[in-house]
Amino acid sequence: MQHYPKSIRNLIRQLSRLPGIGEKTAERLAMHVLRAPGEQAQALAESILQVKRSVQHCQQCFGLSDGPLCQVCQDPAREDGLVCVVEQPADMMSIEKAGCFNGLYHILGGALCPMDGIGPDQLRFEQLWRRVDSGQVREVILATSTSVEGEATADFIARRLADKPVRVSRIASGIPMGGDIKYIDQMTLKRAMEGRHECR
Ligand SMILES: [Zn+2]
Repeated sequence: MQHYPKSIRNLIRQLSRLPGIGEKTAERLAMHVLRAPGEQAQALAESILQVKRSVQHCQQCFGLSDGPLCQVCQDPAREDGLVCVVEQPADMMSIEKAGCFNGLYHILGGALCPMDGIGPDQLRFEQLWRRVDSGQVREVILATSTSVEGEATADFIARRLADKPVRVSRIASGIPMGGDIKYIDQMTLKRAMEGRHECR
């Protein structure tokens, strides 16, 4: 890499910091950028800056959004009485891709893991209780992962909501133990959503 001019070395270095990109691939990508028309390289650079500038958390569900409310929360066709609780925005994206759910979401920001210092205060539980207390929510669907942490998190929510006038269900069937929602295939996810069971 030493024989490249400094600016190219810098681009290779930046690209190789991306996940799954080794130095060889970074070198190939850098050469591609170099050969690409000026406007294409410009569009790439600008889209990276734009993402950092404009993407924020949706004020209602905490999913990724270009504005105060995400596309899902803004969609009047969604059932606002159904709230699917997930750990991360990527989990929401997987469920959206599977097309098996027409309600809204609540993204916790992770799962309870006391060993790593992630307690209830580190996750968006208060915001969830507030949504439930608003009276709009009819059912809370727990779609946290089936790992120990995900199960503990689902349990925590189910117990906390036990005396609230809201149905609490857990997606289950077909999700293997330790299953990360974002890696589950669409068919399995669809069945798991349909086969959800009530938590009490
Ligand atoms: Zn939203």
